[in-house]
Amino acid sequence: MSEQFKVCSTCRKPIPFGASYYQCSVSTCQRGKTGLYFCSVECWDAHLPMMRHREAWAEAVKAPTRAEWELQQVEEAAGAAKSAEERIVNENQSNATNSGGGTEMPQDVLIVVSKLKAYIKSKSGMNTSDGIVPVLSNLVREICDRAIESARSDGRKTVLDRDIKPAG
Ligand SMILES: [Zn+2]
Ligand SMILES: [Zn+2]
Repeated sequence: MSEQFKVCSTCRKPIPFGASYYQCSVSTCQRGKTGLYFCSVECWDAHLPMMRHREAWAEAVKAPTRAEWELQQVEEAAGAAKSAEERIVNENQSNATNSGGGTEMPQDVLIVVSKLKAYIKSKSGMNTSDGIVPVLSNLVREICDRAIESARSDGRKTVLDRDIKPAG
């Protein structure tokens, strides 16, 4: 973990957590990987000749505290991975509200629940209990574990379709 929030883009002086710093009013100077941070108005001044802004000013900003910053990092990292999974889990939870199983839904659901339910429905007209989701996920894990072993015993680093063998 970093000891400071950022370093000044001009003089490389650390900008501590919770400190005041300056950013450029021009949005391209604030965003993305090239985001610029300045410890002082003088340092902000120094980037102007390079950037040739037509109109710009220095904005005083307060850096997040270390705790706030760490929370941001965690949320950003979780955000990407979560959005895909959340769709499935939320779907489950909204269907499972009455059975009270919503909050216990394990994170590592390995199957697309809506598609599974649609398959059972179209094949048989039957409904599907959410209880089968963790059970099926465990089965998928077991099959994958066997496939990993099979690939490993062949000295491969890739699991192939022929490594997948039916249970039993
Ligand atoms: Zn500086
Ligand atoms: Zn700028």
